[in-house]
Amino acid sequence: MLRYAPTPVQEIFDSVLDHAGVRLLIKREDLNHPLVSGNKWWKLKHNLAEARTQNKKTLLTFGGAYSNHIYATAAAAAELGFKSIGIIRGEETLPLNSTLSFAKQRGMSLHYVSRELYRSKTSSQFIEELEQLFGDFYLIPEGGTNVLAVKGATEFAQTLNMDFDYICCPVGTGGTLAGLIEELPEKKVIGFSVLKGGEFLTEDIQALTSVKGNWSVMTDYHFGGYAKTNSALEQFIRTFEAKHAILLDRVYTGKMMAGIFDLIQKRHFVKGNTILAIHTGGLQGKSVF
Ligand SMILES: *Cc1c(COP(=O)(O)O)cnc(C)c1O
Repeated sequence: MLRYAPTPVQEIFDSVLDHAGVRLLIKREDLNHPLVSGNKWWKLKHNLAEARTQNKKTLLTFGGAYSNHIYATAAAAAELGFKSIGIIRGEETLPLNSTLSFAKQRGMSLHYVSRELYRSKTSSQFIEELEQLFGDFYLIPEGGTNVLAVKGATEFAQTLNMDFDYICCPVGTGGTLAGLIEELPEKKVIGFSVLKGGEFLTEDIQALTSVKGNWSVMTDYHFGGYAKTNSALEQFIRTFEAKHAILLDRVYTGKMMAGIFDLIQKRHFVKGNTILAIHTGGLQGKSVF
């Protein structure tokens, strides 16, 4: 098992919240592990156990050059004594960025594939080719999302024993949100798509959970698209960090928090509501953008 540190819930005090009459709590899951942080810890948990049960020696997974999932998988593999292989989208750029040099330093073997080939990452033919190249491995999909990842996210949701009306989480693939939806059918669950054109995520998430009606995905807070930023987002993150002394990344948690504040200002929530935002980690990538 990976190391795990229990994480606090922190209340945010801000005049925006006072005006709207709502409370905002942040579950600091970014503090659960120094390297396998936030939701990635929970998404990997049962996959690592399953790899062990299947007696696999090697983990293989996919990601972009700045991927939190690649970073977390490399660290988890090193901690638990697995070999690891990262199939990286696009060409190698030297010197390696901090995400990939960390992964390499943890022993992950990096293999670059064209963007075109990368798109076939779920095809059985491509996976067979990878097996011929690398031998036996335990495959973890891009972003780590599969049924076992959702199971881990439901267990994370079980740790949330405070009172709240809404729970908010950034969405990449939707695996984490699906676990929250599944475990908290009596709460209102809001996902914030970090991708442009994130409307398709609703269907993807529906495929991961049978719970209906308690959740939605906001698609207007992508700030230009995946890993894109703009001056409004930068300004929001700078102000939030200075006021509340909690770091946010640009790819995920910054967008979610900007979205939450915007919804509060638009009176999406009613007086007396408590909103719980999940800090899903991802701070490893903060320096590279
Ligand atoms: C990967 C990641 C997400 C997205 O999780 P999904 O389960 O793919 O939706 C959210 N926040 C952070 C910090 C992440 O690294």
